[in-house]
Amino acid sequence: MSHYKKNMWNLYIENKLDRNQQEELELHLYSCPQCLDDYMDMLEHVTLPTIKDPEQWTEEVMAQLPPQQLTKQSNKKKQLLLHYTIAAAATMVLMVSGIFQGVVNTEMQYDVLSNQEQPFSEKILDKISIVPLKEGKE
Ligand SMILES: [Zn+2]
Repeated sequence: MSHYKKNMWNLYIENKLDRNQQEELELHLYSCPQCLDDYMDMLEHVTLPTIKDPEQWTEEVMAQLPPQQLTKQSNKKKQLLLHYTIAAAATMVLMVSGIFQGVVNTEMQYDVLSNQEQPFSEKILDKISIVPLKEGKE
C-alpha cells in the first residue's frame, strides 16, 4: 500500500482533486493511521481567514463583498467541517478495527495456549532443556 504525500491531502481538503482521486484518498484514510495523521496535520494548517473582531468583520463583509463571495466563504467553512467529520470517522474506523484486531489476537493466543497438550510452562521447559547445558568446551 503506497502512501499519499501531504500536498495530496492538501489538494483533497481544498477540493482540487477529481472524484476518483478523492474517493481513493478517502478510502485510504480509513485504513491508514499514518496518512490520517498527515491529513489531520494538513487540516490544522488550512487557512481560514483570521478574524479579530467577528462582528465588525461580518458587517464589513456584508457591506463590501458581493453575495457570490459570501456563499463561497460559507462553503469553505462547511467544507472544512466536512473534512473534520471525515477525519473523525476515519479515526473511529481505525480505532474500532484496532479493537477488533486486539480481540482476535487475544482469542488466537488463548486458543494456542489452551490447545497445548501439555501445559505451556512445561513446553517452555522442554525447549530450554533441548539446549545442551553442558558443552564441555574449555
Ligand atoms: Zn497511507
